[in-house]
Amino acid sequence: MTDYPTLALNDGCQIPQLGFGTWQIEEETAPAAVKTALETGYRLVDTAAIYGNERGVGEGIGERSDIFLQTKIWNESQGYDRTLKAADKCLARLGRDHVDMLLIHWPCPDKDLFVDTWKALIDLRDQGKAKSIGVSNFRKEDLKRIVDETGVTPALNQIELHPSFQQRELRKVHEDMGIVTQSWSPLGQGGGMDAAAIQEIAGETRQPASAVVLRWHIQHGLCPIPKSTSREHIEQNFAALSFELSEEQMARIDALDTDDGRLGPDPANFNG
Ligand code: NDP
Repeated sequence: MTDYPTLALNDGCQIPQLGFGTWQIEEETAPAAVKTALETGYRLVDTAAIYGNERGVGEGIGERSDIFLQTKIWNESQGYDRTLKAADKCLARLGRDHVDMLLIHWPCPDKDLFVDTWKALIDLRDQGKAKSIGVSNFRKEDLKRIVDETGVTPALNQIELHPSFQQRELRKVHEDMGIVTQSWSPLGQGGGMDAAAIQEIAGETRQPASAVVLRWHIQHGLCPIPKSTSREHIEQNFAALSFELSEEQMARIDALDTDDGRLGPDPANFNG
């Protein structure tokens, strides 16, 4: 039996550290992919309104009530009233009366609606529709602003994070504010295993290269959410829970950080 690591959130809830990502998994294939992940042992599933697969994800989870389920409010639904309506639609598609974590997908600074959107999430939490609430792709200034204006600190910020884009500054901000960091594209969208250091450590530990990368996230207190539709990859990634990296191996992966390793959009100017 794998000892499943969890982290304490600032609202008293616990979050499983390793999760299953579902971006780019089609509605039709989502039930099978999610079932495979749950059979393998994953205890957290991440989706979003914009992924167009919430029905399939809900179907894949079925009657399991022990799975930490999170979804996200899409950019066009920002604003207080629209967010309340969008959240109800997410719940209807997922077939649930609540989620474990509800996130604002992007801050969209030019829209300037994320404070009102955050106020809606606070009310949705008070209504029991989300056990915990958080954000995604928020920068330091966005985090400070919602806390200053509402007094409520997000439990989590889901941000792009992988060995070539380690986000040390923002991780420190999260640590100081009591916010858990969840890593999106934790495998660098599949390219994060190519570095020589990762391949060498995979050889030394006799573990899949993807598990080495995910183990690095976990030992840093991050929550990686790798995506895969292949059973082989889903199982390889889950191996991250069954071994440890030495301090020296961790340091070799720390050294892979680069200044221009970002793969996705820059939150400063993404308003889509
Ligand atoms: P990942 O870093 O998880 O990489 C996924 C890619 O890696 C897929 O092409 C997958 O292919 C491949 N892969 C997975 N496991 C292995 C393996 N063991 N060996 C080789 N290749 C592998 O990238 P994602 O961008 O999908 O990020 C993960 C999750 O983060 C998303 O699914 C989503 O839930 C979330 N996310 C959130 C964002 C946000 O703005 N909040 C933005 C982007 C992602 P295959 O399926 O063939 O295995």
